[in-house]
Amino acid sequence: MVDEELAKESFEELYGVKPRYRFYVEYGRLKEYNAQIIKYYSNIKFKMSRRWMNVSPMIKKGLFESLFIRLFRRSKYLKPKKTMSLELYNSFIKNLDLSSKVKKLDPKLLESFRRVNDVYFNNSLDCPNLRFGREAYYKLASYNFHNDTVTVSSIFKNAPEELLDLLMYHELLHKKLKFSGTISKRFHTKKFRDLERQFKDYNNAEKRLNIYVRRMFKNRKL
Ligand SMILES: [Zn+2]
Repeated sequence: MVDEELAKESFEELYGVKPRYRFYVEYGRLKEYNAQIIKYYSNIKFKMSRRWMNVSPMIKKGLFESLFIRLFRRSKYLKPKKTMSLELYNSFIKNLDLSSKVKKLDPKLLESFRRVNDVYFNNSLDCPNLRFGREAYYKLASYNFHNDTVTVSSIFKNAPEELLDLLMYHELLHKKLKFSGTISKRFHTKKFRDLERQFKDYNNAEKRLNIYVRRMFKNRKL
């Protein structure tokens, strides 16, 4: 089956309605098993890494569905169902994580990971890739579950441990929760926010984080 047909089928399976969109699938230079979804007018385009080319249709369907969920997460009309393809896709990605052995580990972030894993996760988490990204003032950190990587903005290279740990804790919650809970709101669910508040002295730590970012922003090199 052609990918465009498969995308259409995924939409119907997930939402139980026929899509009002035209689908396009394009393979290109994305890393690992990354994929993106882009909507313009009534067109939806999937950009996928070449690695997806030979993945079985059932799993690819799950990928399309997970991208639809992300794209339409605020929709009042489209309510996703739990599907077999999504489950297959999730375990596929999970196994990729386990098999990616070569790690990029920044030593300072590794220390932070060890502290946070110990205090908040009972050392239950496998160490993800840990790297500093560009100097970002808005998106301070992120977790990419396709390649199991925590990226932290470079403005935190010399930040106090507490702030690094706060960011690390948030991203590790993403790592931990990615396969559980409801699918529709799987990024920052209420459960996620409740867990986040379990960080030591959470409200003040958040405040100190904001102050730090503002100060770094003011003093940035232009
Ligand atoms: Zn987040």
